[in-house]
Amino acid sequence: MKSAKEKAILYPGSFDPLTLGHLDLIRRAARIFDRVYVGVLVNPHKKSLFSVEERVIIIRNITKDIPRVEVVSFSGLLVDFCRQLGISHILRGLRDSADFEAEIKVAQGLTVLEPGLDTVFLGTDLRYAFLSSSMVREVASGGGDVSAFVPEGIAPLVAEKYGKSRKAE
Ligand code: ADP
Repeated sequence: MKSAKEKAILYPGSFDPLTLGHLDLIRRAARIFDRVYVGVLVNPHKKSLFSVEERVIIIRNITKDIPRVEVVSFSGLLVDFCRQLGISHILRGLRDSADFEAEIKVAQGLTVLEPGLDTVFLGTDLRYAFLSSSMVREVASGGGDVSAFVPEGIAPLVAEKYGKSRKAE
């Protein structure tokens, strides 16, 4: 739990898998906020490549050298989880106008549900503006190398997932 004066932010997402775009956002947020919680959303309705537990372990490992970053998983309503952590800031990334269109509505809805809960947007680094987890999955499912898109060490894990599922077919 954060201390009274600490300014903390929650970065919620699927991170299936974590990309270089996500990691860049986490690093930048850690320079602005005292603590960054990376929140892996448990979504039982969505089929995922990595389990929530796997994603938490992977992100913890990748962010272990960034001070004051904590990786957690959560289920249920985002506003409830924020209340539980005592957090009043949400972090979201903006790659393009499509992200903006979608994210601004979610941010406004959250404020209605929980007045005082502010969403902070960080624009993507140009190098990663095209990048999404779904693109990584698509390339990997076709047997492509995703090492230019994900932090070091994740590409073999992604490849292994598709290798395994191909063998299982
Ligand atoms: P979700 O399924 O909740 O959209 P994602 O894991 O896809 O979760 O993304 C989490 C957040 O990270 C979103 O705010 C998304 O806009 C942002 N994001 C995703 N990819 C990038 C990127 N390449 N650069 C910056 N932000 C990104």
